[in-house]
Amino acid sequence: MKTKLIIFSSLLIFILALFSCKTDKKSVADHSKGASGPKQEWAIVIHGGAGGMTKENLTPELDKEYRASLQIALSTGKKILSEGGSALDAVEQTIRTMEDNPLFNAGKGAVFTHEGRNELDAAIMDGSNLGAGAVAGVMDIKNPISAARKVMTNSPHVMLSGAGASQFAKEQGLDIVPASYFYTEKRFNELQELLKKEKYGTVGCCVLDKYGNLAAGTSTGGMANKRYNRIGDSPIIGAGTYANNNTCAVSGTGHGEYFIRWTVAHDISALMEYKGLSLKEASELVVNDKLVKAGGSGGVICVDKSGNISMPFNSSGMFRGFATADGKEGIFIYKDEGLK
Ligand code: ASP
Repeated sequence: MKTKLIIFSSLLIFILALFSCKTDKKSVADHSKGASGPKQEWAIVIHGGAGGMTKENLTPELDKEYRASLQIALSTGKKILSEGGSALDAVEQTIRTMEDNPLFNAGKGAVFTHEGRNELDAAIMDGSNLGAGAVAGVMDIKNPISAARKVMTNSPHVMLSGAGASQFAKEQGLDIVPASYFYTEKRFNELQELLKKEKYGTVGCCVLDKYGNLAAGTSTGGMANKRYNRIGDSPIIGAGTYANNNTCAVSGTGHGEYFIRWTVAHDISALMEYKGLSLKEASELVVNDKLVKAGGSGGVICVDKSGNISMPFNSSGMFRGFATADGKEGIFIYKDEGLK
């Protein structure tokens, strides 16, 4: 009787062990579908806007200029991260280089509203504590991303807008510029000609730092020809910008109204958190399935807590680049290049 009992319980333990082994294997296999690589010490991914750019309609000169500008931004962030700087410093300084570059639709190069003004939006988020700051509809702050960071660290609020945001930025000692800073006729006309009426270039940056912290930031002039103080997704936490150390950091670019209604950035994080999807699975599902079905064009850049990077977009191109601590890096524009 005793021997039978021993044989029976051993058999039971064996079956249970077999079963749990199978389940383990399955969840590991499912999770690794998203090309998860070895853990990176740090990682950075940037975008300079998604849109209709193709090899045919982007001149070789512009192609070169954009790649060089993306490289400057990427190198700025890389240096900060590799020297042990914080995720927030990397995001802010990387984005500032693109805000100061008239080629991008952010800061200096912001597009014009229907009334001929420049109204800028930006947001930053700290994945370590879900701290966030944003400014919307600002017209005289030189670097909106820095104002967004000040809102996060030096105010009890998450988003400030218009004149109030400018007053706050002034009190915080940030650079305030006259409206003419965003407009030089010669530059404007040149640029319009150059860009053949389409202006690309919302900018964004997501990073993982050496301390395991994720951060995301986005800065934009919004949609060209916008009216009535329209605000897009970029400064809205969970729509165009989101970071959470438990999941990922995301920055979006595209038709903001869709990104707001589909809460794109947070949806990617939620799919990872609640459904166990990998970064790649979650971001591709949202951008190439949900957004496509909805009719929302654009893309996202994102990085997870292991330093995996994903940059899906459903438009014909997206200015983008990435670098990781293991020495991998790249700058891409079109569909047929980039991380597979
Ligand atoms: N998402 C931005 C907005 O809707 C525009 C863009 O990314 O091009 O304001």
